[in-house]
Parts: sequence; structure tokens; C-alpha cells
Amino acid sequence: MVYKEYDYIIVGSGLFGSVFAHEMNIRGKKCLVIEKRNHVGGNTLKK
Ligand SMILES: Cc1cc2nc3c(=O)[nH]c(=O)nc-3n(C[C@H](O)[C@H](O)[C@H](O)COP(=O)(O)OP(=O)(O)OC[C@H]3O[C@@H](n4cnc5c(N)ncnc54)[C@H](O)[C@@H]3O)c2cc1C
Repeated sequence: MVYKEYDYIIVGSGLFGSVFAHEMNIRGKKCLVIEKRNHVGGNTLKK
């Protein structure tokens, strides 16, 4: 089994989760984003 380490596990890739992951990535933090839908952006998605 392969173990990976993350600084943050973020549930939901909506506006908040995506921005938080991006900002933390800039600061050198490793994030795992878990999303139940098949797209990112949450309710901001425009079709
Ligand atoms: C119809 C509508 C129109 C809107 N129009 C505007 C607008 O014009 N301007 C504006 O500024 N704002 C608008 N908003 C509000 C804007 O969409 C929200 O403020 C913003 O999307 C909130 O972001 P969020 O990341 O908090 O939540 P969300 O966008 O809801 O993202 C949460 C994400 O988490 C995921 N998730 C939830 N539970 C789990 C789980 N257990 N496991 C995995 N994933 C999970 C969801 O699938 C979703 O992708 C609108 C909202 C709606 C519903």
C-alpha cells in the first residue's frame, strides 16, 4: 500500500475549496480535494 501525506484534505471543489487549495498550494502546502460531483467549481459552474 502506498501512503501519501497531505497538509489539508478539502471536501468539495466549490468556490471555497478550490480557492483554498490554490492559495495553500501557492504557500507550498499539499492538498487533497475530494469532490462528489463530476465537475469542479460547485454551484459556480455555468453550462
Ligand atoms: C442558483 C445559484 C446562483 C448563484 N448565483 C451567484 C451569483 O450570481 N454570484 C455569486 O457571487 N454567487 C452566486 N451563487 C452563490 C455561489 O454559487 C456560492 O456562493 C458559492 O458557490 C459557494 O461556494 P462553496 O464552495 O461554499 O459551495 P459550493 O459551490 O456549493 O461547493 C461545494 C462543493 O462541495 C461538494 N460537496 C459537498 N459535500 C460533499 C461531500 N460529502 N463529498 C464530496 N464533495 C462534497 C459539492 O458537490 C460542491 O461541488 C449562486 C448560487 C446558486 C445556487
